[in-house]
Amino acid sequence: MALHWKILIGMALGVIWGLLASVLGLNDFTLDWIKPFGTIFLNLLKLIAVPLVLVSLIQGVSSLSDVSKLSRIGTKAVAIYLTTTVIAVSIGLVFVNVFKPGHSFSEEKRNEFKEQFASTANERAQTAQQVQEAGPLRFLEDMVPTNIFGSLTNNTQMLQIIFFALLFGIALVMIPPDRAAPVFAFFDGTNEVILKMVDLIMRFSPIGVFALLAGLVVDFAGDSPGQAVELLAVLGYYSVVVIAGLAAMMFIVYPLAVSLFTKQSYGTFLRGMFPAHMLAFSTSSSAATLPVTMECAEKNLGVSKEVASFVLPLGATVNMDGTSLYQAVAAVFIAQAFGMQLDLAAQLGIVLTATLASIGTAAVPGAGTVMLVIVLQQANIPIEGIALIFAVDRLLDMCRTIINVTGDAAVATIVANGEGQLLPPEN
Ligand code: ASP
Repeated sequence: MALHWKILIGMALGVIWGLLASVLGLNDFTLDWIKPFGTIFLNLLKLIAVPLVLVSLIQGVSSLSDVSKLSRIGTKAVAIYLTTTVIAVSIGLVFVNVFKPGHSFSEEKRNEFKEQFASTANERAQTAQQVQEAGPLRFLEDMVPTNIFGSLTNNTQMLQIIFFALLFGIALVMIPPDRAAPVFAFFDGTNEVILKMVDLIMRFSPIGVFALLAGLVVDFAGDSPGQAVELLAVLGYYSVVVIAGLAAMMFIVYPLAVSLFTKQSYGTFLRGMFPAHMLAFSTSSSAATLPVTMECAEKNLGVSKEVASFVLPLGATVNMDGTSLYQAVAAVFIAQAFGMQLDLAAQLGIVLTATLASIGTAAVPGAGTVMLVIVLQQANIPIEGIALIFAVDRLLDMCRTIINVTGDAAVATIVANGEGQLLPPEN
């Protein structure tokens, strides 16, 4: 049986087990004896992500014949990444303004929110202030590490690792070939080993996702005993709006982009990305999914190694279409719940900040929600509103991560095609 079917079955069984366990009182058993395997699987994925990006990027860059090609690929990728993100935010805004999920709260409830959250407003504002106070070029400063081993020990510093790998790879091309050869051979061989490790880790994935989802369901069922029905109903509606927006990206925007700019059929694209989708959903982390995204892009979509090893790690770090769409919907939803009117200028501000916030979002679970603070602050929406959406946040995180990963792969496919590097897929 193909691996992605096994993953799918693992996911379904995980949810079923989680539900059964909460009904039968097996919560502790699940948390003690099953959930750890999910954590181990997640650890394995994170373990391999940093070496993979470092080595495959060095290997990829140093096998490039000219550096100008690299900067061309980089510029194109970033430009398309930005475009897809702005489209995503705009779709989110249109959906949330048309469906108005936040207006479903009763007048009474909305006033209650206002009072309830007003008291803690200052505390939260401070957190956002700290993030915002950074100067406009802060992201450039942050990209250049002072100690590469420091960056390597920190899974959220992917941009610094990318920077180091690029510099290393470029320097490697510039030294005399006889001196470069052993270094190149080392990275070439190491790269092969790491890809094999990804393969081995993925064999464990059906059990890993089973355990992850079983743990999640038990956790969720455990701490939300009979919440207010109104809140859940409205949150359900809000979730549907977010998911509809994400679906529009997946089934309208990416298909159009892939079929307009490449000759690949979108069916092939979706089938090829299936394992990465399953994993993005189970782990809620584009960084953890990155090894599989890269494998899918190369083997199933035919993206060349050169493009995949550069464009995908970059995308996993800076391109989050799903997250930016979610941030737009969440921000306006909270404003609606508080009875605020957002004019056109405020909505355009959201386009800008959600785009920037999604670029700054780390590719780990829940990061998009933390960065939502910036979007809310900029639009003068009470930050306390985040408390409103927590109950459904994990589920939406799982869904938006699928879109984040799909966006990266779509752009990699388009860039590869433009470079004449979209090869026939291996399978
Ligand atoms: N979990 C998302 C990702 O890793 C980021 C987020 O929106 O929280 O892609």
